[in-house]
Amino acid sequence: MNAIVALHGIGTVVAFILMLLVYRAKPSEQQKILFAGTVFTFLDVSGYFFELQGQSLEAIRLAVKIEYVGTAMGLLSFLYFTCLYSNHLHGRVIRGIKAFYAVNNIFILSLIFTMEYHPLYYKSVGYTVEDGIHLLVFEPGIFYRWWTVSVTVMGLLIALIMVQSVFEHRGEKRPELLFILIASVIPIVMWMLRITGVFGHYDSYPFSMLIAECFLVFVMYRYRLFDAVKLAKDRVLDDIKEGILVADELGTLIYVNKEADTIFPDIDWKDREMVDERVFHFMDTHADGFIIEERFYEWQQSEIYDDKKRRAGVLYRITDTTDNYLYTKQLIELKEEAERANEAKSSFLARMSHEIRTPINAILGMNEMILRETDLGSVREYATNIYSASKVLLSIINDILDLSKIESSKMELMEADYNMGNLLLDIENMISLRAEEKNLNFKIVTDATMPKLLYGDEKRIKQCIVNLLTNSVKYTKEGSVTMQMDYVKNDDDTINLWVSVSDTGIGIKEDDLYLLFDPFTRLDMKKNKTIEGTGLGLSITKRLLEMMGGNLTVESIYGKGSTFSFVVPQKVAGEEPLGDYKKSADDVALPDAQERRAYVAPNAKILAVDDTRVNITVVKGLLKRLKVQFDSALSGQECLDKVKANRYDIILLDHMMPEMDGIETLHNMQQMEEYIQNKPVVIALTANAIVGAREEYLREGFVDYLSKPIDSVQLEEMIHKYLPEELVEYI
Ligand code: ADP
Repeated sequence: MNAIVALHGIGTVVAFILMLLVYRAKPSEQQKILFAGTVFTFLDVSGYFFELQGQSLEAIRLAVKIEYVGTAMGLLSFLYFTCLYSNHLHGRVIRGIKAFYAVNNIFILSLIFTMEYHPLYYKSVGYTVEDGIHLLVFEPGIFYRWWTVSVTVMGLLIALIMVQSVFEHRGEKRPELLFILIASVIPIVMWMLRITGVFGHYDSYPFSMLIAECFLVFVMYRYRLFDAVKLAKDRVLDDIKEGILVADELGTLIYVNKEADTIFPDIDWKDREMVDERVFHFMDTHADGFIIEERFYEWQQSEIYDDKKRRAGVLYRITDTTDNYLYTKQLIELKEEAERANEAKSSFLARMSHEIRTPINAILGMNEMILRETDLGSVREYATNIYSASKVLLSIINDILDLSKIESSKMELMEADYNMGNLLLDIENMISLRAEEKNLNFKIVTDATMPKLLYGDEKRIKQCIVNLLTNSVKYTKEGSVTMQMDYVKNDDDTINLWVSVSDTGIGIKEDDLYLLFDPFTRLDMKKNKTIEGTGLGLSITKRLLEMMGGNLTVESIYGKGSTFSFVVPQKVAGEEPLGDYKKSADDVALPDAQERRAYVAPNAKILAVDDTRVNITVVKGLLKRLKVQFDSALSGQECLDKVKANRYDIILLDHMMPEMDGIETLHNMQQMEEYIQNKPVVIALTANAIVGAREEYLREGFVDYLSKPIDSVQLEEMIHKYLPEELVEYI
C-alpha cells in the first residue's frame, strides 16, 4: 500500500482514539467542543483517506463529502474552542463572526453535498492517479474560490485570537496557550501552502487539522485543562470534616474520602468483605451513631440519582459529633445543677421564711400586749411603729414563701364559690386609704352585668389585683389610679375575667419591660430608691395568673403612666348579676374587734404546747384578757403528761416540734383514756401556711387550726367558738 494511504489509515485510527479520549473526560463546555473537533477531524482525515483510495468518481465524490463535513464543521469547532478558551465568548463581534461562519460553512457543505447538480462549487470534477494515489482534479467554481477566501480568513482569525490571548497573558506561566497557538497556526500555514500549489493535487489540510487536534488533546491531558472542577470537588471532599463513602447501586464501595479513612483507621478499603462487614454492616447496626476511639459519630445515608433520575448509588456521610455530644451533656449537667441550685434556693427560702415567721410571731404578739397594756403615748407610738414594720416584714416573708412555693410547684389553688362584690369591697378598703394618703384619685369601674357569684381562688385573684394596685399607688405621685373589671362569656359556665389597673405614675422604660417579671428585680432605682419594695410582687402575680390559666400584660409610657391588665378564666357559680358591687357585698362582713361582744372565761382550762418559750408567752399574753386558766407544755411528751394529770377544755398544739411533733402527739393522746373521757378540743398551731393545711389537720384529728403569727382576734373567736357556752361570761 502506498505510504500516504497508510499514513491516512493510521491517522483515521488516531483521530478515533482522540475522540474516545475526549469522550471519557467530563462533559464541560470546552470538552464538548473539543470532542466535536476530534470527531470532525476524524471525518476529515478518514474522508480524505477514502478519497485517496476511491476507485471511481462516485466513490471519490462520497469521500469528498465526508471530508468536507469534517473540514467545515471541524474549523467551526476550532473557532468556537479558541473563542471559548481565550474568553472571547461574549464579545459581540466574535459572536457575529461565529454566526456568520456557522451559516457560511453549512451553506458550503450543502453545495458540496449537491455538487453533482450544479457548477457552483466545482465546475467539473475528475480524478487522476499519481503514484497509485487517487486525487481529485477539478475546475473551481465561484464558491470554491469563496470557500478558499473564507477558510483563509477563518484560519487567520483563529490564529489571531490565540496570538492575542498569548499576548494578553504574557508574563503569566501559561504554556498551554502557546501550544494552542501552535495548533491554530499549523492548519492555516498548511492551507496557505496548499492554495499556493506547493503540494500539487495533494490536500494537506485534513492532516494539518489532525496535527492541530493532537496538540489540543495533548494540552488538555498535559495541563489538566478541564480538571479544575473535578479537582476542586475532590479537594472539597477530602478537606471537609465529614467522612464520605460512596457505594454504587450494587453496594460496592467506589469512593472513600480522607476523613472516612481516618474514622475507620484499620480498614483496607480494597478488601470488599472487610468493608462490608466492618463498615457498612457496622453502620447499619448502629443507626443512631457509633463510637470509635472515644469519638462519637452520627451518619446519614442518601440515594444518588443520575441526570435521568436513575438510581446510581448511595452516599454515606459520617459526622463527628463528639463536641456536640459533650457540649449537650455539659449543658444538661449545668441545667440539672441550676435546677438543683434553684431547688436548694427555694427550699432555703421556704425554711428561712418559716423560721423568720416564728420570731415575728413573737414580736407581733408581745407588741400587741404592749399596745393593750400601756396608756403611755410615746410607748404606744413606738409599739405602733413596731407593729407596722413587723407587718411589712411579714408581707415580705409571705411573698418569698409564695414565690418559693410557686417555683417548687408546691403552690396549690384553693377554689371555692365567692362573691365578687366582697372581693371588690375588700380591695377598695385596702387601697383607698393608701391612695387618699397620697392624694390620688382612686376608682373602681365594673360592669354591672357581670356575674356576682364566681368559682375560683378568691384569695389569689385578690392578691394579684392588690399587688397591681399597690404598685400603682406606690409608683404614682399625682393623678389617678383606676381599676377596671369586665368579662367575656366563654360559655354558660365560664367567663374570662378581665382586670386592668392603670395609673398616671412614673411609667416604665421600654428597655426595662423585659425585666419586669424577674423576681427580686426592681427597675429605675434612681427614681425609686425611696420606695420600699422587694421586686417580688409582679413575678408572683404573673405566675399566679399563669397557674390559674390567665396571663398578665403591661403597657407603659415612661413618665406618663402604666396599665397592667390580665385575663383569667373563672367559673360562674350563680346567675345573679353583680350590679353595684358595694351593694352586692355580703351584709355580714366580719365585725371588727370593737364590735364583737367581749367575754371572759375564768373557768376554762387551756393548755398551749409549743417548743419555743416565747410563743407560749405570746399565747399566754393574748389569752390574758380572757382570764382563762392557762397552762403550758414545751414538748409533745410534756403535753401527754399534762393531759394525763389534768383536764383541759382546749389544747393549742404546735405542729412543728422536735422529737414528737404535733400530729404524733395528738395521735398518742387519742389512745389515752383521759383524752377519750374528757374530749378536749385540740387546735393545731402552725407557721406552715400552706394551702389545704386546714383539711390536712382536720383529717389528722384536729378540730381546727390557727396559723402563726397568731391574730389575737382570731384566737379569741376560736376559743369562743369551741368553749362550752356555760364557761363563757360576756362583759
Ligand atoms: P416592688 O414593687 O416590690 O419593687 P414588683 O415586682 O411589684 O416589685 O415590681 C417590680 C418593679 O417594676 C418595681 O420595682 C418598679 O420599678 C416597676 N413597677 C411595677 N409597677 C409599676 C407601676 N405601676 N409603675 C411604674 N413602675 C412599676
